[in-house]
Amino acid sequence: MSEETQPETEEAAAGAEHSFRAEVNQVLDIVINSLYSHREIFLRELISNAADALDKLRFRAVTDEGLMEGEGELEIQLAPDREAKTLTVIDTGIGMTRDEVIENLGTIAHSGSRGFLEAMAGQGNAGSDVSGVDLIGQFGVGFYSAFLVADRVEVRTLAAGEGQTGWLWTSAAHGTFTVDEAPEWTTRGTEIRLHLKEEHHEFLDEWRIRELVRKYSDFVSWPILLEVTTEEGEGDDKKTVTKDETINTASALWRRPRSEIKDEEYLEFYRHVAHAPDEPMETLHFQIEGTTSYTGLLYVPKQAPWDLFERERRQGVRLYVKRVMIMEDCKDFVPDHLRFIRGVIDSDDLPLNVSRELLQEDRTVRTIRKTVVNKVLAAIEQMADKRKDDYAAFWGEFGRVLKEGLHTDFENKDRLANLVRWPSSTEQLTSLAEYVERMPEDQDAIYYAFGTNRDAVENSPHIEALKKRGTEVLYMTDPIDEWAVEGIREFEKKPLKSAMKADLDLSKEATDEEKAEKEANEERLEDLCERAKTILVDDIEEVRVSNRLTDSPCCLVVPEGGLHAHIERILRAQGQDMPKQKRILEINPDHPVVEKLHLMHAADSDGEEVGDWFRLLHDQALLAEGSPIADPATFARRMTTLMQRALE
Ligand code: ADP
Repeated sequence: MSEETQPETEEAAAGAEHSFRAEVNQVLDIVINSLYSHREIFLRELISNAADALDKLRFRAVTDEGLMEGEGELEIQLAPDREAKTLTVIDTGIGMTRDEVIENLGTIAHSGSRGFLEAMAGQGNAGSDVSGVDLIGQFGVGFYSAFLVADRVEVRTLAAGEGQTGWLWTSAAHGTFTVDEAPEWTTRGTEIRLHLKEEHHEFLDEWRIRELVRKYSDFVSWPILLEVTTEEGEGDDKKTVTKDETINTASALWRRPRSEIKDEEYLEFYRHVAHAPDEPMETLHFQIEGTTSYTGLLYVPKQAPWDLFERERRQGVRLYVKRVMIMEDCKDFVPDHLRFIRGVIDSDDLPLNVSRELLQEDRTVRTIRKTVVNKVLAAIEQMADKRKDDYAAFWGEFGRVLKEGLHTDFENKDRLANLVRWPSSTEQLTSLAEYVERMPEDQDAIYYAFGTNRDAVENSPHIEALKKRGTEVLYMTDPIDEWAVEGIREFEKKPLKSAMKADLDLSKEATDEEKAEKEANEERLEDLCERAKTILVDDIEEVRVSNRLTDSPCCLVVPEGGLHAHIERILRAQGQDMPKQKRILEINPDHPVVEKLHLMHAADSDGEEVGDWFRLLHDQALLAEGSPIADPATFARRMTTLMQRALE
């Protein structure tokens, strides 16, 4: 609900003044002061809102016929007034009650404004405002684009089925708006009257309005009428006649044959349904006739919407039934891991009064969903196959989402596993198939390691031996990767194996000599391992000789069934209650530090100093993998003492 302030002046008291919420002021400030070009999009936004209002009315009228009674056609009207310098957008749609006016035109859903402001900040400067303007629609702040061209806006509105008296909302955007009764407004629907700034009087010109509607709003399935004034007759009989003319095609784009639709029309429709500023990466248009008949016009966007990972996502695929819009964000036609898909599904078979609950159960919906998933995956596969650069960009935007399907979409698991990409020790980005193709014959697993970023994995001690042998290691930096790997488990009969887990066994690929050496080392260092375990008993499950290290003295590995440290950290940061996980410390038998400690231990098997060294090594292993150390002050003190001793 909006915060209302007490009117401060008599004048204000007469016109119930309200303050905009802080986030609206911020958005308005940007709209008015930072966006310079492409101001024309205000018309697209207002027409889009009008079309939505008509869609909503038609949908509500399915169950409440009374709502449509008595009023004129369902349409949008544009009325320029060249004398008053106003442009008015009128619709006969659902309208708004007083509360709705205050809520909808005085606040912004919190997440929307936050998204917009963050995205604007991400733009870096106000100079490159083209995309800023384009962002407006995406964040549910489209109405405020009216202030791109107007210094004062009046909204008159009457909600369908809510009596005879409408409401008047006015604002000049200086932090406040007023809401009063509007006895003169007695028809259902809404009019938005823009008092155009002097420098924007071009938007009163008939040709300019026609051009904008053709460019941005031709696909709107409601008629858009323009008040056209012509001179008729000759001489003394000459008179000015005002007529309404429909200036858009006014047909549902997706119902038209593909061959008749121009690329620009597909593009503009995408911008409309997806509220997106970019171009789509893929456009899928299909008309299916048979036992179930439906049309789909779906898009794979280029850029991820800002709320892709928000719990309260605003958009999805629109559901129409026989051209009547039923739901703006229908989640039932695309599974969660394809939730970036935008567009329209129009079914001939579903009942008009279908509810969300019914949809979940419905067989028709399941059939359509299957086709949709198939078609979308096929388009993505083709991109992966034929347009590698595009696919890499797509993967960067939506890879994380697609990976979710490895666990949830059992039917398509193999297709998804083929689509997954990771960076690796030898490649910028690789598929599992490409990895397997590069594998030497005697390698029988696909190796991977985790870290916060590419550098962290690359320098991780765990993969030293693998790297030295020239074995390719996949680098996993995304929290969902642990899950994704578990979903895949094996690819082309090759298991996926973590280079950071205790069960990493490189012996198969080792020579007899290497094997014998390993055994000898284990025997030689058995005592030292036992000692280290006693010292670190609170943190460590076991200490053992490593075969994965070459340059580092030690590292921590994950016991079977345990979580990678990187994932454990993320889950903790998210507030999940995790029991302490003891890991295994592996020591490098060939490292001089280990050698020295071995000698030290042999000389004095209870000596304090060995204890200090092992605690230091343990902390250092934590730091090397990017984990926090439990007691940094003690770590520093211990380090200083040992340094002092070394220097003496
Ligand atoms: P969005 O349309 O993305 O939600 P807007 O800022 O464009 O964001 O509009 C805010 C809200 O105001 C809309 O969601 C709608 O509820 C209401 N609204 C705007 N224009 C109209 C209209 N012409 N008729 C009815 N409601 C409208």
